[in-house]
Amino acid sequence: MARITLEKEKCIGCASCSAICPKYFELKDDGKAHIIGAQKNQAGNDELDAEKIECAEAAAEACPVLCIYIEK
Ligand code: SF4
Repeated sequence: MARITLEKEKCIGCASCSAICPKYFELKDDGKAHIIGAQKNQAGNDELDAEKIECAEAAAEACPVLCIYIEK
């Protein structure tokens, strides 16, 4: 099991993550990326426990502000 977290405040809405990994990321009306199916953690960021990381790792590497975190 892995955990994917997205730190909303840092996100600049560039849409790289949703282009690379539409399974886990989408852009919403607030101009920020969201993790599909995520819960909000205490800091107000999106957090998702996923069985497989798949493309999320490539999305995290491509994020220009490095606000996607993956814990394995
Ligand atoms: S790649 Fe990073 S900065 Fe760009 S939309 Fe996704 S989370 Fe936001």
